[in-house]
Amino acid sequence: MFHKILIANRGEIAVRIIRACKELGIHSVAVYSEADKTCMHARLADESVCIGPAPGNQSYMNIAAIMAAAELTDAEAIHPGYGFLAENAEFADIVIESGLTWIGPTPESMRIMGDKVTAKQKMKKAGVPLVPGSDGAVDHIEDAKRIAKEAGFPIIVKASAGGGGRGMKVVHAMASLPNAFSMCQTEAAAAFGDGTVFIEKFLEEPRHIEVQVLGDTHGNIVHLFERECSMQRNNQKVLEEAPSPFLDAATRKKICAAGVAAAEAVNYVGAGTIEFLMNPDKSFYFIEMNTRIQVEHPVSEWISGVDLIEWQLRVASGEKLAFTQDKIKMKGHAIECRINAEHPFKFTPSPGVIELYHAPGGRSVRVDSHIYTGYTIPPYYDSMIGKVITHARDRKKCIRRMQRAMDELVILGITTNQELHQRLLANPGFQKGEFNIHFLERWLNQMNL
Ligand code: ADP
Repeated sequence: MFHKILIANRGEIAVRIIRACKELGIHSVAVYSEADKTCMHARLADESVCIGPAPGNQSYMNIAAIMAAAELTDAEAIHPGYGFLAENAEFADIVIESGLTWIGPTPESMRIMGDKVTAKQKMKKAGVPLVPGSDGAVDHIEDAKRIAKEAGFPIIVKASAGGGGRGMKVVHAMASLPNAFSMCQTEAAAAFGDGTVFIEKFLEEPRHIEVQVLGDTHGNIVHLFERECSMQRNNQKVLEEAPSPFLDAATRKKICAAGVAAAEAVNYVGAGTIEFLMNPDKSFYFIEMNTRIQVEHPVSEWISGVDLIEWQLRVASGEKLAFTQDKIKMKGHAIECRINAEHPFKFTPSPGVIELYHAPGGRSVRVDSHIYTGYTIPPYYDSMIGKVITHARDRKKCIRRMQRAMDELVILGITTNQELHQRLLANPGFQKGEFNIHFLERWLNQMNL
């Protein structure tokens, strides 16, 4: 196991990784921007190094400064967390070429999965179901027209190098295809430096269901079941749960097997997530793989009993997974509510000073956060300031537990989305588990707040 690692991230995920290090007896090095001097991660770590000015591209994405901090502190490995440089294969290359260990998958699997067209071709070979469409790149409008006709409208034109919900255009009729197609190509070239696009049938009422996988360097890959992530606004997840209330045992088995097949196809090492869209008839299709730890990993940890960050560190140091698939049992239900410093219904950011913070507690309530009373939330980064996670024997009890946890949570001085969660948890559609990726936005529009 490592003696010392550097965490190339901030906020709650840096705190989460530092906590895992402390429990494993690993020394942790935090990096922080000039705006994050007082952030919890910089205080909790054994050592902290300032890596530059507030804007992310000058600090948390500043590869030279991060590598200098690693050298200065003699760190043996780098954990990238999520966001920032987590899916940057060049950064992983640099870490490895510098003789350090990259706590994540190989740069090669990151590259394959980072390019949607290449990823889809790999997945097709591995027998993972794909959304009907072009599979490969589409260069000419005549091909686009033919594929759209075969798939049937609506279709979605997507940038191969796209990410974060950008570089996609939904097209409802042949007449608007030529314009949308060339716009998508031009925008992709400008935004991602790669104008390659492809076409998929646009699924109209899907759920977003993803499979958590974990692989070691000895060729073992397991899944930790699925997560239901359909509760989204603007492609941003708001509340996640595991297992999905929509799946029966047979569908679970199929989608989890597809997740493992996807990971095996790229010899995956570490923690990763395979995202699928699922139709109301339970047919499901691969959309992409995230080659990193995700925000919502705690719900999978809770139902499976596997500490994902601990195992990221263990497999990166060369350990074998200590369990086989049949030893991983799904236990109970877990829900995560993302707490954002933003207006609950207008979604405007609300940085500022936290005048009072009181975290919920009690049985089976977990809070992953970097905030504290007196902390000033800087305006430069993501608005997520923490996560509340609850676990219970079944979904109904888990919702009740989350409701009481949300009622206990006190954050004064800034505005948060706490009230959104309180209303959502009380919503009959949510309680019945009857929702898809459009539910939250439709409900917000109806409320007209
Ligand atoms: P990104 O890498 O930008 O996150 P994804 O391919 O994961 O792109 O798609 C992001 C979101 O866009 C999905 O979660 C889903 O809501 C929507 N989406 C993508 N592809 C389709 C599709 N074929 N049909 C319907 N919705 C889609």
